[in-house]
Amino acid sequence: MGPKTKSPPGDTNQSDRDIFFMRAAMEAAIEARDKGDIPIGAVMVHEDKIIAKAGNARKISSDPTAHAEILVLREAAEKLGDWRLLGCTLYVTLEPCTMCAGALVLARLTRVVFGASDPKAGAVESLYTILADPRLNHQPVVTSGVLADETGELLRGFFRARRTKKAEKYSNTSD
Ligand code: ZN
Repeated sequence: MGPKTKSPPGDTNQSDRDIFFMRAAMEAAIEARDKGDIPIGAVMVHEDKIIAKAGNARKISSDPTAHAEILVLREAAEKLGDWRLLGCTLYVTLEPCTMCAGALVLARLTRVVFGASDPKAGAVESLYTILADPRLNHQPVVTSGVLADETGELLRGFFRARRTKKAEKYSNTSD
């Protein structure tokens, strides 16, 4: 994060704020990538301030549930001293999966903003629409596609580099 800026200038409109906070989520994604995890990042915003920030840590913590969204949910709930995250907005660089979408409903989150869509596992718009399902007792407001190109490129670049590395590793073996 920049020079201690934790909230955007006061007179910005909603879409400028969304971009500001999505950039913070991207920073967390880049930190995750630099530790060897898939670059997905999230921040939780309460009263226009970031109260939690995390990158995907599945690999480094050997934990299949250590998705960025779950990590920021836990940190934010602990900080607020309440499991209900009413009034909070989650920003995440990739469309949440079924587990995370379920957790966001359980946390009574007010709003969810995500970047790139995930056609293979997305549970907000792509494969399922868990956050809009009227059979569940809470429906967060959803905004999708914020910095979709940049957040998506972060992932594509990661997988491209990984394929190249694998190809190099096996280029001298015959299989
Ligand atoms: Zn997830």
